[in-house]
Amino acid sequence: MKKLICVLLIFGSNFAFAQEKITAIKAGKLFDSEKGTFLNNQVILIKDNLISEVGSNVKIPANAEVIDLSTKTVLPGLIDCHTHITGQPENYMEDLFRKSPVDVAITAHIYAKRTLEAGFTTCRDVGASEYIDVALRNAINAGKVPGPRLYVAGFFIGATGSHGDLTGFSPNVHFQQGSGVADGVDGVRKMVRTNVKYGVDLIKFGATAGVLSEEESVGAPQYSQEEMNAIVAEAHLWGKKVAAHAHGTEGIIMAVKAGVSSIEHGSFVNEEGIRLMKEKGTYLVADIYNDDFILSEYSKMGVPQKIIEKEKLVGRLQRENFQKAVKAGVKVAYGTDSGVYPHGDNAKQFFYMVKFGLTPIQAIQAATINAADLIGIKDKAGSISTGKWADIVAVDGDPQQDITLIEKKMVFVMKDGKVYKNQ
Ligand SMILES: [Zn+2]
Repeated sequence: MKKLICVLLIFGSNFAFAQEKITAIKAGKLFDSEKGTFLNNQVILIKDNLISEVGSNVKIPANAEVIDLSTKTVLPGLIDCHTHITGQPENYMEDLFRKSPVDVAITAHIYAKRTLEAGFTTCRDVGASEYIDVALRNAINAGKVPGPRLYVAGFFIGATGSHGDLTGFSPNVHFQQGSGVADGVDGVRKMVRTNVKYGVDLIKFGATAGVLSEEESVGAPQYSQEEMNAIVAEAHLWGKKVAAHAHGTEGIIMAVKAGVSSIEHGSFVNEEGIRLMKEKGTYLVADIYNDDFILSEYSKMGVPQKIIEKEKLVGRLQRENFQKAVKAGVKVAYGTDSGVYPHGDNAKQFFYMVKFGLTPIQAIQAATINAADLIGIKDKAGSISTGKWADIVAVDGDPQQDITLIEKKMVFVMKDGKVYKNQ
């Protein structure tokens, strides 16, 4: 308010509105994510929070604030389509039995800030307890805490005894908190409605068993075809997209047939699954970095050996099958399962995506234009183009030569026209 009063005093009463803020970024190299090319010596003009002009012959207005990134590589703000930004593991027993959702909520903003500073200006957050993700998204959008723009799923919807249920404990142990456990066509429809009621942007459900849970299987289907169809149909009634957690071959095929927008993990996808995904345009969001972290760190955190053995079954095969899917031309969006490993390390997965079949350009497209397409915000994010949000990051060096520079040399982060990092 004070600022507005000052402006009015300076310009007099006939100048009723504060002037818009204009920023000009000089980009030495700029990634055109739609064409998949790098352009030299570009200027990006930003009015308030939107990109107003991009090109090599853009005139910089005299009143613009100039940011000089002429020795850097400028990319659209990165997007991680599979995060759990509200928490990360510290100790298996402590996390399960001594932390309440309040403990989780009170630290969630720390992880949001780390993620943003790593260059991720948007995240699709696919599962959190007690709608902490909704509250965090709202606080970020209101400018109360720094963090990526979030699209959140609320409770992970899963069947009784599934990956989304807390299993492996005595039947006498009861967890006094909400959950996304739902069974039967009516039950899953109601759970979708409940998530929508409390403000989610998308629906996430468990089509198959998982790794980081104590149920026996890694990949068995955990919903019937009818239940999966009902989840997707109900979500679509509300205009929400659906992400399916799916490791196993059969469950992947069932979820794709049900009409999900993305298969998360996709570890044991086979040729039929790949063919169906291509046919239906289903995105693959494969978290192919975190295997390293789980195998090196999880024993130390007291995670049961049973879970670590499951990861050993999944890790290598998931990377190989990712490569097959890429070769076949399945659409890929960047998603890491952050929260399984520490937040802020989101860019470590680029190395593996390049190692297992994508070119550096395709890997960056997966984390920009493809990710924006999957979330449904391609008109506002995913490329540095006129009319889009000014979500812009810069890397020192050339990520086309060395993709790990994105994780090691992220020197500049702007989200919505505001600078959060400038080294
Ligand atoms: Zn996950």
